[in-house]
Amino acid sequence: MELRNLYRDPHRRFNPLTREWVLVSPHRAERPWQGQLEASPSPPALTYDPACYLCPGNERAGGSRNPNYQTTFVFANDFAALSPETKTARQDDSGRELLLSESEAGICKVVCFSPRHDLTLARMTVPEITRVVDLWAEQYAEIGSLPYISYVQIFENRGEIMGCSNPHPHGQIWANQTIPNEPRKEQESQKAYFGNNHACLLCDYLKVETQAGTRMVVENTHFAAVVPFWAVWPFELLLLSRRHTGDLGSLDPDTRNSLAEILQQITTRYDNLFEISFPYSMGFHQSPTDGEAHPEWHFHAHFYPPLLRSATVRKFMVGYELLASPQRDITPEAAAATLRNLKPIHYSERKLR
Ligand SMILES: [Zn+2]
Ligand SMILES: [Zn+2]
Ligand SMILES: [Zn+2]
Repeated sequence: MELRNLYRDPHRRFNPLTREWVLVSPHRAERPWQGQLEASPSPPALTYDPACYLCPGNERAGGSRNPNYQTTFVFANDFAALSPETKTARQDDSGRELLLSESEAGICKVVCFSPRHDLTLARMTVPEITRVVDLWAEQYAEIGSLPYISYVQIFENRGEIMGCSNPHPHGQIWANQTIPNEPRKEQESQKAYFGNNHACLLCDYLKVETQAGTRMVVENTHFAAVVPFWAVWPFELLLLSRRHTGDLGSLDPDTRNSLAEILQQITTRYDNLFEISFPYSMGFHQSPTDGEAHPEWHFHAHFYPPLLRSATVRKFMVGYELLASPQRDITPEAAAATLRNLKPIHYSERKLR
């Protein structure tokens, strides 16, 4: 069957990073929709909120007070999900790994991107975002160098719909003693591909996408963002470094600037899609810090936004998706074209002009 015809009919696509499949049903995008309607959250108008625990000078719930920071600010999460003091233990009450548990030591930090309560990555300047990239790189190196830390997960949750109640621009860093599920799957796939092909999985994938062009959304000197062939979320993006490199720490100043620039371009396009502050979960996948060499690891970021066709209609992972396999209606090619054709200037600025 011709490829283009295959993409028009229900088909499944393979994710080589996780080795899982996604069901694509293009015709379902035509069906009538009676989805959930929510009030779209309006962006905060205040540059400083006295009740915000992330704004400069404010007191946090744990009793500590934030300094009057001018750029970025990082602190240990007052209600951390992981603790460095956890003692090593393993227990199996059944003897057959039916009730298996292991201790997990780790660190949780919060990273404020800006002292301004009302900003987002999309509305920060490239030099301001570069400060955030520098801080992420520093934190990756510092936390990753701790002997008991094998993986450093840097991520951002944006929007109430994603469970993030505070609009202040911030992200988190969770670092673990073990490599968590998602990076572990990707590590195994990248390692196997490297062994079989003597090449990097994501370097090869980027070549394919650059040639195809149909799923490419934004490119600059050192990075490219595509709606991956196997995308599950409607407007999912995969951000790839052009050069083969494993982590943020290895990026030179020019490349960090390039990363800041493409982060601004991605988030601006997202906001412009429905002219709202677009919700998403994003995070970097980098080389584990387990003391091993990882030539197979290619530095990248995933953006997982939940919105489907408007500011108020979201995609739910329920029913078949919870029980069997993820499924999508709009093809990744159509989603990429939509994002690619949006204006690169933030809608709030266009309205001011
Ligand atoms: Zn704030
Ligand atoms: Zn690579
Ligand atoms: Zn990944």
